[in-house]
Amino acid sequence: AKEMGGNNYQFYTAAMNERLGERMLIENALRTALERREFVLHYQPQVDIASGRIVGLEALIRWQHPELGMVAPNRFIPLAEETGLILPVGAWVLRTACEQLMAWRADGRRDLRVAVNVSARQMAEQDFVQSVADVLAATGVPPHCIELELTESQVMSDVEHAIAVMHELKKLGVQLAIDDFGTGYSSLAHLKRFEVDVLKIDQTFVRDLTVDPDDAAIVTTIIALAANLGLEVISEGVETREQLAFLRQHGCQQMQGYYFSRPLPAAALEAVLRDNDGL
Ligand code: C2E
Ligand code: CA
Ligand code: CA
Ligand code: CA
Repeated sequence: AKEMGGNNYQFYTAAMNERLGERMLIENALRTALERREFVLHYQPQVDIASGRIVGLEALIRWQHPELGMVAPNRFIPLAEETGLILPVGAWVLRTACEQLMAWRADGRRDLRVAVNVSARQMAEQDFVQSVADVLAATGVPPHCIELELTESQVMSDVEHAIAVMHELKKLGVQLAIDDFGTGYSSLAHLKRFEVDVLKIDQTFVRDLTVDPDDAAIVTTIIALAANLGLEVISEGVETREQLAFLRQHGCQQMQGYYFSRPLPAAALEAVLRDNDGL
């Protein structure tokens, strides 16, 4: 048993070292990723079910590293937050999404809206609202065509500050969405004070919607809540016809998920947008 323990100890140390090594590797690579232009934005359609039209696109960051390959956001966004690198990265995301939207608008797509994820760390910065205003001014994007997604847990981690920031952002004219809604424990009293336009139902509730009565109950409750508060509601992670049918039947107007399209590079999305024109 003693020997086993020794081995286990060594095993865990090696595993921990490896993880630490990977972490340091990613962290170092992350520091130079922006200047080496290794990030790219993909865009995932948000569909209005009644009309079948693509009304919005969520910008999702992708990191293509020459040796590490494609690094998923879940592997580097948390690290970028810890190190503060999310500040320049987040600024790049917003700027790039605005520039892309302007390119689409110049192509005649004037009804599109682009949704951009904002991390807790960005929102905590003193000059965050000013930096958003600067990007809007520099790119000429109409503010109402930009939607900022704040996760429910990030808003709830400092409610008073979040409410103040949301108020300032609304003054700029941007749209606000609460991402991952249903996972972050906001009370109804708080929700009433959030100046948001959209609730995004978290995909963990959508996944088993058609088989798990609890998930079905949560989803229908969020849809009703949004309707009663006069908010838009969108479901993320819609993958099947059955999920779509359930959501439509319960009054969810907007959906996003692999059923419609995976997130795609801007160039590949052109074809999807053209197809959608034909509807
Ligand atoms: P999120 O904001 O909740 O984004 C939704 C995630 O679900 C995306 O993963 C998307 O690709 C994925 N997804 C979309 N449709 C489906 C579906 O039908 N089924 C399933 N299973 N998944 C679907 P992704 O792109 O890997 O991003 C993961 C998370 O990383 C995002 O979650 C967001 O929290 C963060 N993230 C991504 N891009 C950015 C960014 O530019 N800035 C910040 N701060 N965070 C970002
Ligand atoms: Ca999101
Ligand atoms: Ca989400
Ligand atoms: Ca999520």
